[in-house]
Amino acid sequence: MDIPRIFNIAESAHRIHNPFTPEKFATLGAALRLEPGTRVLDLGSGSGEMLCTWARDHGVTGTGVDMSRLFTEQAKQRAEELGVAGQVEFIHGDAAGFVSEEKAGVAACVGATWIGGGVVGTVALLARSLRAGGIILIGEPYWRQLPPTEDVARGCLANSTSDFLLLQDLLASMDSLGYDVVEMVLANQDGWDRYEAAKWLTMRRWLEANPGDELAGEVRAKLTSEPVRYATYTREYLGWGVFALMRR
Ligand code: SAH
Repeated sequence: MDIPRIFNIAESAHRIHNPFTPEKFATLGAALRLEPGTRVLDLGSGSGEMLCTWARDHGVTGTGVDMSRLFTEQAKQRAEELGVAGQVEFIHGDAAGFVSEEKAGVAACVGATWIGGGVVGTVALLARSLRAGGIILIGEPYWRQLPPTEDVARGCLANSTSDFLLLQDLLASMDSLGYDVVEMVLANQDGWDRYEAAKWLTMRRWLEANPGDELAGEVRAKLTSEPVRYATYTREYLGWGVFALMRR
């Protein structure tokens, strides 16, 4: 079981697989006023940067589940590197339907809400692992400005404009689920650049090392088209943020 190989290739050098920077994760950790010993569950934990740095900086413990074998391996290595391997564990597997036995003080899905079939389903899934009074974290894109045409939405790699909401509508949708939005930290275009542009050098280096690979043609095409596509569409139209929710 694994995610499509193209993601493991393009994001092999990423520590954070979304438009957040290390500073943004630090800001979010501080904003949540995490107490030492808080259990954090992270579905789609990627290379584990959020859990590992919060374990180091705030003394949290927790579990991450991710379907990428490579990212999960990198997460375990990162935990060793930061000296928090005794506090956090990383499980390689499908997080769809994952409910933890031990309830968490924070249950997160940061940039992978397809795991629960969208924001609504993911909030419901995370709620099943949450202790009373706990915080749900959702990392999700939103439209900074509505795409004027469906072609523009597709240029942002969305299937259609309806894939995402404007920020105020995303917040309203969380309210309508019966949750207070108690915090939010938003990415910016510098963060988007770190996420997207970092893929380009990784792809270039990978192509040089793997010219005969069956994915070489796809990676070559992506490396050629991605900078202009990204600058034209994603960078202008898509925002991204992490939203902290507490049940009303
Ligand atoms: N939260 C991480 C990763 C976000 S990228 C971070 O902020 O860095 C999305 C992640 O979801 C990837 O790591 C991918 O491997 C993982 N993923 C995709 N489908 C999944 C599934 N069904 N179950 C668990 N993880 C999944």
